Amino acid sequence: MNYIHSTIAQLKSSSPAQCEFYQAVEEVLESLEPILENSEKYKKNAIIQRLVEPERQIMFRVPWVDDEGNIQVNKGYRIEFNSALGPYKGGLRFHPSVNASIIKFLGFEQIFKNALTGLPIGGGKGGANFDPKGRSDAEIMRFCQSFMSELYRHIGPTTDVPAGDIGVGAREIGYMFGQYKRLTGRYEGVLTGKSLLWGGSLVRKEATGYGAVYFADYMLQARGGSLQGKRCLVSGAGNVAIYAMEKLYQMGATPVSCSDSRGTVYHESGIDLDLIKCLKEQSRDCLSTYKQTHPDAIYIAVNDYPKDGHAVWRFNADAAFPCATQNELTQGDANALLTGGCLLVSEGANMPSTKEAIESFIAAKIAYGPGKAANAGGVATSQLEMAQNASMQSWTFEEVDEKLKQIMKNIFVTANDTATEFGEPGNLLLGANIAGFRRVADAMIEQGVV
Ligand code: GLU
Repeated sequence: MNYIHSTIAQLKSSSPAQCEFYQAVEEVLESLEPILENSEKYKKNAIIQRLVEPERQIMFRVPWVDDEGNIQVNKGYRIEFNSALGPYKGGLRFHPSVNASIIKFLGFEQIFKNALTGLPIGGGKGGANFDPKGRSDAEIMRFCQSFMSELYRHIGPTTDVPAGDIGVGAREIGYMFGQYKRLTGRYEGVLTGKSLLWGGSLVRKEATGYGAVYFADYMLQARGGSLQGKRCLVSGAGNVAIYAMEKLYQMGATPVSCSDSRGTVYHESGIDLDLIKCLKEQSRDCLSTYKQTHPDAIYIAVNDYPKDGHAVWRFNADAAFPCATQNELTQGDANALLTGGCLLVSEGANMPSTKEAIESFIAAKIAYGPGKAANAGGVATSQLEMAQNASMQSWTFEEVDEKLKQIMKNIFVTANDTATEFGEPGNLLLGANIAGFRRVADAMIEQGVV
């Protein structure tokens, strides 16, 4: 058994049943084969064994009282995976699917994503198996306060800086920040994704979606094309999907679909973005009501999805932007996209495509931007928020947006050049994994066995 496969086997026996984590590790390690073969130093320094083991995992009880007076208990997590390049950085996810495996895979991906940005940030992630859906504002506040009552002792502006992810937006960040300040007495940049009123950065809200579209545009430019006139399938209807759609319109493309946990909307003439923003950012409503305003749109409920995948990928389009969640795009979906003429996939979510789907995209040689490259604009802009907080400055929308664009370009160029260097031009998965790995691994070697 070679170095990579023996590490994976060891991982599976020491951390049983963490399927999403194994999936993320396999995806990264398999593409590291060419660099590990050429260089003894990574093996000699046991870099792979050290990388797959988090520096620290914190699991805690989150007790809170609901509006009926019942005591509820959730599981809270923060994984501090790797600090070779800077303070742990990564979001908090509040979703019923959250478990140790999901947080671990997200934390592992975050190491390479953050390394690829070229910024001084390590990898971390956290969250809780809390379902915010249908909860009152007061319940959300009590939950966030309880969550922070344990988390505060582990985080700080130069140690670990959480942010949002699925189920955690400016409202939740606000409640957590308030509790952190109350417990510590310190007003500091310990969280990103804050409100613009008190320390947030312009463009942070838009950054992940905008970044995934900038990345798509750089992929197409390198192939002599552009997003102009392209019809795009988007999944999700949260922060990432909404601002990916906004940027697509600004770049002359047309988003024709979006989805939530209950169903998918397909609108041939283009998604009504103002309506989606109103449904999702204000009334927190589900997409099934979209047809009331647009009877010409198609709505497909989850129960009517194809057995081997997701309805959102079963329409013909030029490009696909998975912006919802892990494993939302299967082999069946990939086949449908390729048959329907899709030439580009840019991942706004973390690990949205299954292993088999990714293999199909790479074999078909379409432009495929893996999440850790294409969605890195969110965390990169979080680092810009940290920089503004630390220097007590705030930059204009245009300044931050320009920096975001430049960072996305650098990520594309780095991944693309690295793919060429290792003999697989155009394979951005290989390029992103190797480039991210090289930066973290070399820093770990220089910092000794810690
Ligand atoms: N949750 C986002 C991600 O997956 C953002 C993390 C951050 O801003 O720290 O990268």
